Formats: sequence, C-alpha cells, structure tokens
Amino acid sequence: MKALQYRTIGAPPEVVTVPDPEPGPGQVLLKVTAAGVCHSDIAVMSWPAEAFPYALPLTLGHEGVGTVAALGAGVTGLAEGDAVAVYGPWGCGTCAKCAEGKENYCLRADELGIRPPGLGRPGSMAEYLLVDDPRHLVPLDGLDPVAAVPLTDAGLTPYHAIKRSLAKLVPGSTAVVIGTGGLGHVAIQLLRALTPARVVALDVSEEKLGLARAVGAHEAVLSDARAADAVRALTGGLGAEVVLDFVGAAPTVATAGAVAAVEGDVTLVGIGGGALPVGFGVLPFEVSVTAPYWGSRGELIEVLDLARAGALSVHTETYALDDAPLAYERLHEGKVNGRAVILPHG
Ligand SMILES: [Zn+2]
Ligand SMILES: [Zn+2]
Repeated sequence: MKALQYRTIGAPPEVVTVPDPEPGPGQVLLKVTAAGVCHSDIAVMSWPAEAFPYALPLTLGHEGVGTVAALGAGVTGLAEGDAVAVYGPWGCGTCAKCAEGKENYCLRADELGIRPPGLGRPGSMAEYLLVDDPRHLVPLDGLDPVAAVPLTDAGLTPYHAIKRSLAKLVPGSTAVVIGTGGLGHVAIQLLRALTPARVVALDVSEEKLGLARAVGAHEAVLSDARAADAVRALTGGLGAEVVLDFVGAAPTVATAGAVAAVEGDVTLVGIGGGALPVGFGVLPFEVSVTAPYWGSRGELIEVLDLARAGALSVHTETYALDDAPLAYERLHEGKVNGRAVILPHG
C-alpha cells in the first residue's frame, strides 16, 4: 500500500510503498478514509537526530477515520464496513488513568513502549491503518469523514483544555484564543457552543483573523508586541479569565501570561517550546498555568456528539495521498486556513 513517511531527519516526508498490514489477534485493520495534517508533525520533523524519540521511517498521521476492513482473531463488537474515528493517544488500557478513559495520561505507556499512530507507531497517512484494540475506535454514526477527522485531535485537544475551565467561563467573562489555525479555530467554536464567554482571538495574519471572526470570535486582534495591551483594553484592564495558547512559542506564552486575569487559567497547548514562569508577583494572583496533552476517550465521544448536533464546522482543504507532502509544505508556510485533510483513496 501507499504511505506518507518521514524517513530522513530534516528531509520532507515522502510517499512510498510499504507492505500491506494484516491484523493480528485483537487488532482491527481500517481502510483509511481521511487523515488530518497537524502542525505538531512539523515540530516533530524539526527535531534533531539526537532528540528524535521515534524509529524511522515513520508513517505520519495521528488523526484518522476509516472503515473496518478486517478484524483480527477474537475481536467482537465491530463489523466490516463500520465507519469509525480513531482515538489517538493509546495507553495500556488497565492503569488507573486508562481505567478513567484518560489514555492520554497512561501511567505505563512509556515503560511499555506504547505510542500513538503517527507518533511512533505507523499512522493514518496510508491506505490502511492497523489499530491495536477496538476500544480505540469511536463510531462516526453519520458524521462526514473529512469533517470528522480533525475532531480526533484539533477538536479533542481544545475540548479537553476548555472543559477544565468551564466554571470560570461565566457570563461577562473573556476567553482568549492564541493561534486560530487547526486547533484554535475549533476552540473558538467550542467556546461559543459551551459557554457564554466573550471570545478574543489572536493570530498573526488578517486571513486567519478573518476565519476566527467567521467561526464566532467576538474580537480578533493581531498577535504582536501590542496584543497584550489590546486585550487588556478590551477587558477594562482586568484581563481574561481563560487564556488558551495553541502556539506555545516564547512570544505567545509571554502574551498568554500578560493577558491573564486574577484567578485566571492559562493553558499552554501548542508545542512551540515556550515556558511561562510562575512565582509570587510574576503573574496576577492565583493564576493557574497548565500544559495538557490531547484528551480522554470519553471526551472524544462528547466532541463527536457536539459535531453531530451541528455545533462545529471545521474548515478543511483536501489532498490526495500523493499530494500529502504539498499539504505539509503549505501548512509550514502558514497557507492552510483551518485543517488540511488527506484522502488516501482519493
Ligand atoms: Zn496534532
Ligand atoms: Zn495506562
């Protein structure tokens, strides 16, 4: 089958032919209908050889939806042809966190060498994807594959980040979204669907701010050195109760801290390598800063339910598998508005 692989440190990913996977006992083989192109793959492909944690070649793609093509021995509860979304952050399935459905925080994944598809294990940018266990699959139940596939990361990750702060997003509150790309433009819609908060979006281009407004941001502010003052001005000097940074680079993390209100939540989601110091007098009183990772299985089910209710509309542009390297190139150049989605079977 064809697959998009990252093969050489520093080189662009390539479409290659690899052996067709076959499901072993307990595994499920999916025919991939859609795979999402995530900015974190670009971060992964920028890591130097000495810091690269995965074996190469690596088939990319940690967002995937597909139809069941074959079941390994012993698999029950699924049938060939079922349309499903893949829950990506695989865990051991039995530790205390996995028992809660929080496989993103599995206590034993490192020790057992368990990796998500596309981030250590062969990913979804291929004609077929091997899934280790049927519990990683959530029924699409009528959702369009292209619209649904970004929800497995670009929907689930902001959903998890927002859910922890829902109690602070009361009427009159402000939520700031820094970075309105794949994850950020879904975060704006989640905030509008789940809370009465005023949503202020920050990004570096007018085109991205246009998308932010179109999907529901009340205010859109250019993300530059004056952004923090602009957000302060919009909030009567008080700052925002919740700040979500989907970039996570040094300048955006500094902005995130600078716009937080007293008792605010600052959530750093992007993996841009920035850090925010915490200490007495450094931030407003009782600001809490956290860096979460992905979301739980239960939260993925909730996000898909929200999409089925019509509350989410992910902006996508589609590419054939042969054009997947181009999709990464365009994303790297900041030219993708919303999410790029690969269709391995055209
Ligand atoms: Zn991602
Ligand atoms: Zn576990």
